[in-house]
Amino acid sequence: MARQFFVGGNFKMNPASRKDKVALVKLLNEAELDPATEVVVSPPALYLIPVKESIRKDIKVAAQNCYFKDSGAFTGEISPAQLVDSEIPYVILGHSERRTIFHESSEIVAQKTRAALDKGLNIILCIGETLKEREAGETAKVCEEQLKAVVDVLKENDWSKIVIAYEPVWAIGTGKVATPQQAQEAHKDIRSYLSTAVSFAVAGSTRIIYGGSVNAANCRELSTLPDVDGFLVGGASLKPEFVQIVNSKK
Ligand code: PGA
Repeated sequence: MARQFFVGGNFKMNPASRKDKVALVKLLNEAELDPATEVVVSPPALYLIPVKESIRKDIKVAAQNCYFKDSGAFTGEISPAQLVDSEIPYVILGHSERRTIFHESSEIVAQKTRAALDKGLNIILCIGETLKEREAGETAKVCEEQLKAVVDVLKENDWSKIVIAYEPVWAIGTGKVATPQQAQEAHKDIRSYLSTAVSFAVAGSTRIIYGGSVNAANCRELSTLPDVDGFLVGGASLKPEFVQIVNSKK
């Protein structure tokens, strides 16, 4: 079965005001978006509900993180159960900023993935290597290690709710996008790992999206690569060019 093209907008800790958030939603609400692409935007937790309530229904909303417990004394956290209760269908887990700045291990990411799936959330699961790891020829190994932690806690039918975002750390927010060859090679390796570690069917049906300095100028070429099923967009998701990225297959 064909994999539906997927474009996510990861707003990170942006925009800086409610006024800018309203303007961004308005821009998307008025845009002509390719109906064949699944579009998900991920505002900061504080804006999840207002964005969900004001954005057009063909754009879904994702949290940028969640904890693995249902409720309790975990100051600063939000739970998968609370996201589901608030009708937020997606959560981003394992973003490199969570892994590096907030010290989340692959095991924690796996635990969160399991908990989020158990509550019925869809996951955008981020993996990717640093520049040092790429230069040491360890890209595939690092991606496999990060994925393995999740593979170990998932059942085969869980994979229908997972989108893998391959995001080389050196390309995030740097303006240094992976070349089409680098992206295709990494995505192909991830797919072949899924084939061995999970199943041929899961490898064929799981969407693997690219993230890292995607913009209106580079999205078209990347979108034609056989193993690239969409994008996770940071900086450019706050700008009008996000519409062009959503429409990169059109
Ligand atoms: P970027 O971020 O598009 O600003 O590089 C991507 C991401 O972190 O998801």
